[in-house]
Amino acid sequence: MTKKIAVLAGDGIGPEIVAEAIKVLSFLNTDMKLELVFDNALIGGAAYDAFGTPLPQQTLNLCKNADAVLLGAVGGPKWEPLPHAVRPERGLLGIRSELNLFANLRPAVLYPQLADASTLKPEVVSGLDIMIVRELTGGIYFGTPRGIRVLENGERQGFNTKIYNESEIRRIAHVAFKIARKRHKKLCSVDKANVLEVTELWRQVVTEVGKEYPDVQLSHMYVDNAAMQLVRAPRQFDVIVTTNMFGDILSDTAAMLTGSIGMLPSASLDANAKGMYEPIHGSAPDIAGQGVANPLATILSVAMMLRYTFNETTAAERIERAVNSALDAKVRTADIYSEGMTKVGTSAMGDAVVNALKGV
Ligand code: NAD
Repeated sequence: MTKKIAVLAGDGIGPEIVAEAIKVLSFLNTDMKLELVFDNALIGGAAYDAFGTPLPQQTLNLCKNADAVLLGAVGGPKWEPLPHAVRPERGLLGIRSELNLFANLRPAVLYPQLADASTLKPEVVSGLDIMIVRELTGGIYFGTPRGIRVLENGERQGFNTKIYNESEIRRIAHVAFKIARKRHKKLCSVDKANVLEVTELWRQVVTEVGKEYPDVQLSHMYVDNAAMQLVRAPRQFDVIVTTNMFGDILSDTAAMLTGSIGMLPSASLDANAKGMYEPIHGSAPDIAGQGVANPLATILSVAMMLRYTFNETTAAERIERAVNSALDAKVRTADIYSEGMTKVGTSAMGDAVVNALKGV
């Protein structure tokens, strides 16, 4: 059966890095008869320039009809003066909510070849391989009532609501337990159950769901401790599941343990494992059009797509091994370059991964 992928290259370095990910997927498509088909559409600033909106209806339709979406990045200085409603980033938020992508998967993997890129000591981060599962469509970022009001005494008051229904917690917990099963079978749920009732419920529901996964070792941690442990001894974690805001903050911390924004992929999934896959970095306008961006985060994003949406584990592992081989061969884009390595551009890095794929 054919597998439909909507390809949204976006703005800035988006088209350059997405081209390399498609190069890798196309090679595997032929090599392993994966039956992938690709369809392109505009999003972000590019879509605004062509249609006056960052998320045209035809792009949304294409994404809805696809099995998975590959996204480059959106945004750039050209579109910053636009009103918020038509800013490129709105295109992304629109797809996330229209496709109900409630589970955000952010791996933080430190490649041993890049251990020096981390700000932490190599002995603390070497071998780091964490998956953070962040709830993406609920919690305090969406809860109501919210706003800024003026009190009777004339003082202004800002307020937000952190709210989770049991069903929202249950579905993200299931995603996290299933991922833990595919990894080292350890899940740490992060909350603030000692202070916030909403996360007391979070802890109760995650514990209940855990009874269905007796093979996964479940632990709980308060978010302040989790932040500390992530920089003190990050290798204790396998999979972390947490709320929208805690996940936002902790996943950026975990990402930076690896020291290289150009290496980190992400996935956002719905209840049926349909997903949008994208690098965690933005459109990097400062280097756009120069052919120097690191395409590995995007290439690793399509490995996630093969694993989580298409269940093509072997193909996913081949990409991950090929990235490792390319790094072993001392090939580096500028952002991860160090002395003694061979500096290459975006396209040559993609070629290096395809070449490595032939041997793994
Ligand atoms: P950024 O991630 O685009 O860039 C931060 C720094 O990292 C820059 O110096 C950039 O050159 C570098 N960098 C990023 N990706 C790289 C890569 N693959 N290879 C080499 N270097 C890389 O963040 P920013 O500068 O804050 O934002 C730029 C634009 O991107 C803004 O318009 C912002 O809104 C947008 N943005 C989009 C997304 C997204 O599409 N998901 C995410 C974050 C930011």
